[in-house]
Amino acid sequence: MHIELDAVCHTYQPGTALSVDALKEASLSIDQTDFAAIVGPTGSGKSTLVQHLNGLLAPTAGRVLVDGVPPKRQAARELRSHVGLVFQFPENQFFEATVREDVAFGPRNLSCGAVEAGKRVTEALDMVGLDPDLFGPRNPFELSGGEKRRVAIAGVLAMRPRIIVLDEPTAGLDPVGRRELMAHLRDLHYREGIGVVIVSHALDEIAELVERLIVMREGRIVFDGRPSVAFEREELLARAGLDPPQGVATLAALRRRGLDVAPGAVTIDDVARAVADAVEKSDET
Ligand code: ADP
Repeated sequence: MHIELDAVCHTYQPGTALSVDALKEASLSIDQTDFAAIVGPTGSGKSTLVQHLNGLLAPTAGRVLVDGVPPKRQAARELRSHVGLVFQFPENQFFEATVREDVAFGPRNLSCGAVEAGKRVTEALDMVGLDPDLFGPRNPFELSGGEKRRVAIAGVLAMRPRIIVLDEPTAGLDPVGRRELMAHLRDLHYREGIGVVIVSHALDEIAELVERLIVMREGRIVFDGRPSVAFEREELLARAGLDPPQGVATLAALRRRGLDVAPGAVTIDDVARAVADAVEKSDET
């Protein structure tokens, strides 16, 4: 599945004194094979952008194409089931008495029968690493922060989306919860073959994980490519109000002090290797 935004603009409250141009000619394609992050400062248009990916918002100008064709009005519901959107703090929307019922809400709403919904709930809880027998009967409000978040994500996965978009999925979690959740998102992509798009502020957290980075500033997409390429462009990050990952910042500082470090390192292993190589090279000269 493939979604394309073609020069999409979105204006909130057009024609009024409160009018805001939140998206300005944003062009982007997202595929089921993507593992991507959308980053940028607050107010840069990230949420507005992702809501166009699943038909929650319609463009004021420009087009959204699904598998190459504009979706029909009645197909918006179908698009919503193919592209799952996980909002910030999704656990605030729990309202059922058990995990199993809460995760089943989406499939039941899609008119799945009880047996099919049950199958999907089991599958979705498995995907986020929660044992369905153990967690299914529990009260969702009594779980840990990380578990609650994973139940909420399972609720979206139970709709069997081909692409899942998560807005700040680790916000408010402790470091263990964050690490666990990121590992599950990695599995969703590499094991289950679901396209994953993460909206984030924290480059440190997503730097080593994603294959594609989309940087937004003032309603525009100002970069779309490999994270390692974006990280070499200090100016781009600074203008988007983003701090580079710590490893990348360390390399930049060493470079400014005259050490000839090769570009492109992102993971901590790559950073260590780049420093070791540079030191060896400088010892030789
Ligand atoms: P981000 O997700 O990057 O923080 P948003 O897409 O939420 O950015 O917001 C982009 C711009 O649109 C901001 O200026 C924000 O104030 C404005 N905006 C967002 N939602 C609404 C809305 N429902 N009504 C009016 N303005 C909005």
